[in-house]
Amino acid sequence: MILPIVLYGDPVLKKTAKNLDLSELPAINNLVADMYETMYHAHGVGLAAPQIGKDWRLFVIDSQPMYEEGSGKGRKEAFINPVIVEKSGPDSNYEEGCLSIPGIRGDVVRPSVIKMQWIDLEGQPQEAVFDEMDARVIQHEYDHIEGVLFTDKLSSLRKQLIKGKLNTIIKGEVDADYRVRTAAGKIRG
Ligand code: ZN
Repeated sequence: MILPIVLYGDPVLKKTAKNLDLSELPAINNLVADMYETMYHAHGVGLAAPQIGKDWRLFVIDSQPMYEEGSGKGRKEAFINPVIVEKSGPDSNYEEGCLSIPGIRGDVVRPSVIKMQWIDLEGQPQEAVFDEMDARVIQHEYDHIEGVLFTDKLSSLRKQLIKGKLNTIIKGEVDADYRVRTAAGKIRG
C-alpha cells in the first residue's frame, strides 16, 4: 500500500522517535513492505517511519540508484532500532534532498564512514560498516528518527534562501508527483 508522505511542518518530523517492540515483528514486516512501496513510488532511496507519520526508530533504504549501473554497489535494507556506534573517515559534501521537503536541495557535510548496529526483519541483531552513498543515505534517514532534517544542517545563508520555499510547504502548497500529507493533515495525490 502506498502511504502518504508527511511533509515539512508536521511535528512528527521534529520528534525523537521511539524504539520498536520486537514482539510486533509481523506488523513491522507489513509496514516495511508498505514503506518500500511508498519509497519506490516516490523515486526515493530512503524512507524513515516519521515520514509516514510514525515516531518509531525504523527506516528503509535502497541506495542502488545512487551508484553507477552495473557496479553491483548499493544496498536494500530495513533497519529496526538502529544505533550509529562509530563515525569515521574524511567528511564528504553532497547535495541532498528529501521526500518530505519537495523541491529543495542543499549541500550537507557528513562523515564518510559509519558503523551501525540494528535489528533485521527476522529480529536478529546486525552490525556493519557503511561507506560512500550507503553511509550518506543511512545518515540522512538516521537523522529523521532523531527529529533532524537535512535543512537543519545547511549553511545559515542557504537556510535564509530557502525560508520562503519552506513556508509554502508548511502551507501545503507543494507540487509533488507522489502521495503526500500536508502539515494541516490534507492528503494529496
Ligand atoms: Zn528525508
